[in-house]
Parts: sequence; structure tokens; C-alpha cells
Amino acid sequence: MINKQTLTQTLLEVDNSLRFLAANGHHGFACSRHTLEKLEKWGKRPESRSETLGDIRADLGDCQRCKLALGRNHIVFGDGDPKAKLVFIGEGPGFEEDRKGQPFVGAAGQLLTRIIDAIKLSRNQVYICNIIKCRPPKNRNPEPDEIKTCFPFLERQIAAIEPDVIIALGTFAAQTLLETPIPISKLRGRFHEYKGIKLVPTYHPAYLLRNPEKKRDVWEDMKMLMKEYRYEI
Ligand code: URA
Repeated sequence: MINKQTLTQTLLEVDNSLRFLAANGHHGFACSRHTLEKLEKWGKRPESRSETLGDIRADLGDCQRCKLALGRNHIVFGDGDPKAKLVFIGEGPGFEEDRKGQPFVGAAGQLLTRIIDAIKLSRNQVYICNIIKCRPPKNRNPEPDEIKTCFPFLERQIAAIEPDVIIALGTFAAQTLLETPIPISKLRGRFHEYKGIKLVPTYHPAYLLRNPEKKRDVWEDMKMLMKEYRYEI
């Protein structure tokens, strides 16, 4: 750590040198973009985030950017702690979610709540959202143009929250976030990374409702997560 006396001395020397250059006809010097960016941030709190979830929600507005707007009742933006260390990401809203405007509030949502309880957290300590924010007709899979339009908002939400870990629920979320066609059964069971954030792929709660024998695998994934993050989450 630099002491105050050394800092004052250094600043005086810089000041003298700049005055000398100015006296000799130099009226400025070129800065790289990197240096300019540093100067821009000078004195600002390093943790100040560029945008909040509220800013992103406001930007989304009454979104009409894709055809899903035509059939939806509510945009399901996401719910939970805006500074959560753990973010759960599903596929897209179903019937109940579309009706209430909240993620994971139907039968699969109740199972997700139990999974969150099992890792000794509550829903309001984590953040829950989806790859797409509007319900596709008859719960069909989201189409590429819909994902392409919606995904940037999720990317911004993740950047605003800055979680330690993302849990990708099901094939669709895992494959979209990891940009891979590998099936969830091969992705789960280990940590991956999304933009420097640890990502744990696991089975979707709706799949668990149809295949309860897979709950054991999800529990293994949650144990892996707790072992790594027991003290932080
Ligand atoms: N399934 C999802 O993928 N997301 C929800 O919000 C509800 C069910």
C-alpha cells in the first residue's frame, strides 16, 4: 500500500513534469481507450452496477418484440432477491405463470420450492426466471426467433444480479446458456461456466414430476452445489 507522503511526492513530480511540457509547447497527450475508460471510472464506487433489474424491466415495457406477445396474459420477468447468489433459470412460463405473472408457481414450481428448501434457502433468497418471458401457445417449445429476441434481457438480468451460481433447469435452459446440443443427462453432475459464473445443469422440476426416480440425481447436483458453496450461499 502506497503511503500518503510517497503519493504526494509522486503527484508533485507528475505536476512538475506536466508544467514543464506545457511550458515547452506540449498541450496534451494521447490516451489509449483503455486509459480513457479507467479515467471515466475514476473515483466511482467499483461496485456501482451499470443497470438494475428495474431498469431492465422498464426497458422491456409492454414487450411486443416477438409473436408470443399476441397470446400472453403476463410477461413473466423473474422474481426473488435482486442480489441473489443463486439464480434458477427455467424454460418459459406455463399456464399458471402466464396467469399470475410469476415464475414457477404451478405444480413444477411447488417442486422447485421444495428443492430450494432442501438446500436450506427460501424462494426470496434466490432469483428465479426463465429463458423466455412469455408463454408459448399450448406450451410448445420456444422458437429460435423468440429466444433470440428475449435472451438479451436475461443476459442483462444476470449481469445486474451478478450471482455466484446459475442453476439451469432442464435441457432447454442448459443448452441455451451453454450453447451446446449435449443432452441434460450428459451435462448434469458437474460444474460448467457461463460468462465466468458457475453453472449447474440439472433436471427440470416438470420432468421430475413425470420421472420421480430422477429426483435422486437432482439431489446429487444440489449436494455438489452445497459442498462447494456451503459457506457463501
Ligand atoms: N416451467 C418453466 O420452465 N418455467 C416456469 O416458470 C414454469 C414452468
